[in-house]
Amino acid sequence: MKRPEILAWLREDDPDRLETLWQLADETRRAHVGDAVHLRGLVEISNHCVRRCGYCGLRIHNREVQRYRMTHDEILACAHEAVGYGYGTLVMQAGEDPGLRTEWVAELIRRLKAETPLAVTLSLGERSDADLIAWREAGADRYLLRFETSDRNLYNLIHPGGAEGGHRIELLQRIKAIGYETGSGVMVGIPGQTCDTLADDLEWFARLDLHMIGVGPYIAHPGTPLGQAEEAFRAETPDQTPADETMTCKVMALARLMCPDANIPSTTALATINPGEGREMGLRRGANVVMPNLTPPTYRICYEIYPGKACAHETAAQCSGCIRSRIEALGRSVGSGRGDSPRYQSAARDHGARPAQPAPAQR
Ligand code: SAH
Repeated sequence: MKRPEILAWLREDDPDRLETLWQLADETRRAHVGDAVHLRGLVEISNHCVRRCGYCGLRIHNREVQRYRMTHDEILACAHEAVGYGYGTLVMQAGEDPGLRTEWVAELIRRLKAETPLAVTLSLGERSDADLIAWREAGADRYLLRFETSDRNLYNLIHPGGAEGGHRIELLQRIKAIGYETGSGVMVGIPGQTCDTLADDLEWFARLDLHMIGVGPYIAHPGTPLGQAEEAFRAETPDQTPADETMTCKVMALARLMCPDANIPSTTALATINPGEGREMGLRRGANVVMPNLTPPTYRICYEIYPGKACAHETAAQCSGCIRSRIEALGRSVGSGRGDSPRYQSAARDHGARPAQPAPAQR
C-alpha cells in the first residue's frame, strides 16, 4: 500500500467508509491466516525493571509498585495450566530485569521444553546478543519487543537514558538474524505521535517483515512522567493521534493489509479501553490471536503497566472460559497446535533452514 493511501485511511473519520477498511482487513485475515484464533498464555514472570520508560507503570522510579519475581516452579505450574486450557504457546513477559539471569532463564526454557509441547515466546525487553543466543539455543521459539514508535525524537524522549544498542528497530533486526520468530508493535496515541509517525511505523512493520504485530492504545498511567504531562504534551502536537479504539483498529487493519501473513493479537489494552467489545472489535478488524492471562492473581495485580488493565482481577480459568466463548460467539474457532507464523515458516523454507535452527548471530 502506498503512503498517501495509508495516510488517507489514518485520517478517515467517516464510519461508513471505515467499514470498507474493516471488511478488507477481515477478508485478508481470513484468506491468509484463516478463521482459527490462536491462544497464547501470558505469564508476567517479573515486574522488576531498571528502565525509565516515560509511559510504563513498572519504571524503576515508581515506588508504589510491590515488586515480585516468580520462581521456576510457579512458572512451570502456569505452563501446565496452559496445556490444560489447550493453549499452544507460553509467553513470558517481564520488566527489564537483570535479576532474570541468563542461565536462570535458559534452564527455565529447557524445563518448559522438556515438560510441555508449548512454543515458548520471550518478552523480556532489551537484552544482550549473548543472552538472546543462549535462550534461542535453550529452545525459545519467539521474541516479542515492540519498538513503540519509529519517530527517533519521540522514542528518545520517552525512553530516557536509552539503551546502548540504539533504537529497538536495530535490535529487532538482530533478533530476527538469531533465528527467532519475531514480533514487534507500537502504542497508538502516544502524546507527541502524529498520523505521519503511524504511517512510518506501518512501513517499518512491512520492511522488518515481522511475524507478529501487536498494536494497542496508549493508556496514561498517573505514576509516570508522560501520564502527568499528558495534556500539555498533546496540546503542543499538531495532528496529535487519539489513543482511542478507532485509531487503534485503523493501525491493526492496515497492519493486516500490509503484512497479510503476520500473526496479529487483539490486545489487552484494546480490551481495557472497551471492556465490552474491544477483543471482538480487534478480531473483526484484522486480528487472529488472543493472549489470555495466566499470571497468578497475587502477582497479576502488581503488573500494572497501565491502570485499569482488563482481566487484572480474574483467574486463569476465568480468562480461558471468557476468551473461548467470545471467539465462538464470533463464529470463529480456537486454533490448535502452536500457531506458528506462516510468514516465518515460508522464510525458513526459502533459506533451506528449519525454524528451530538458530542462525549464526550478527553483531
Ligand atoms: N519490558 C518488556 C515488556 C514491556 S510491557 C519490554 O520492554 O518489551 C509490554 C508492552 O506494554 C510495551 O511494549 C508497551 O507497548 C505496552 N505498554 C507499556 N506501558 C503502556 C501504557 N501506559 N499504555 C499502553 N501500553 C503500554
